[in-house]
Amino acid sequence: MKVALVTGANQGIGFETARILIRRGYFVYLGCRNPESGIRAIETLGREGLKNANWVRLDVTDQKSVDEAVVQVTDPALDVLINNAGILGARAVPGETYALDELRRVFETNLFGVIRVTQAFLPHLVRSEAPRIVNVTSGLGSLTLQSDPTWRFSRYKHPAYVPSKAALNAHTVVLSAELAPKGFKVNAVDPGYTATAFNGYTGDRSPEVSAAFVVKAATLGPDGPTGRFLSEERPGGELPW
Ligand code: NAP
Repeated sequence: MKVALVTGANQGIGFETARILIRRGYFVYLGCRNPESGIRAIETLGREGLKNANWVRLDVTDQKSVDEAVVQVTDPALDVLINNAGILGARAVPGETYALDELRRVFETNLFGVIRVTQAFLPHLVRSEAPRIVNVTSGLGSLTLQSDPTWRFSRYKHPAYVPSKAALNAHTVVLSAELAPKGFKVNAVDPGYTATAFNGYTGDRSPEVSAAFVVKAATLGPDGPTGRFLSEERPGGELPW
């Protein structure tokens, strides 16, 4: 049985991603920073007969919690890592300098958290025959699109979120090149504007639809792309960096 770990899996896109992977025959570890939400997620899945899952306490900003999560993943190999946990951060106050502390907090989750979790689980991933890493990013992290005033989302210039996802994209390019010779597929995946707690449920895509796209990137075959910015927002299935 293939094994997957999804961070931020107690709600939203992460939870739906876990649900789809279990239905597809994966054993899924749901990374949840809060025990109550982890237990609740497992109970919800269990009521649907989806038993091939467990939750692990995993706060991506906390090295100790990541190290403890590694010990709890008792399977020798991890086939899929989905770095989904992410935060938006506070919005800018016009006329005020954006607080460096807030930038650091958002980068700690959206960039360093991803790198921390990936490094910790790399020994598990290299034991897979076909390791896949999905970094859940955002179209808002596209410098090309952000530079186009006619782009649908160009008004969303969140001062910490946008640079954090652009940096995550850069990390994905670097990591994919490093791991390609070992058979990894490492992609940045934009789930699209999705109705979750993240945006007060205003998104125009359902978490199920967005999660299905994340799962597609997590289950690519040997001929699938690596080091790409995958998205359903554009007909070609990719966004410019
Ligand atoms: P969500 O419903 O708010 O879920 C975010 C998840 O991340 C929650 O499970 C949250 O845990 C978890 N999380 C936050 N900080 C964490 C930390 N330090 N350690 C571990 N888990 C943490 O949002 P979502 O829409 O599903 O977002 C999932 C991903 O999609 C994010 O990376 C986001 O940037 C990206 N995305 C979303 C949209 C959209 O329109 N929704 C668009 C583009 C990209 P708690 O429940 O404990 O807070």
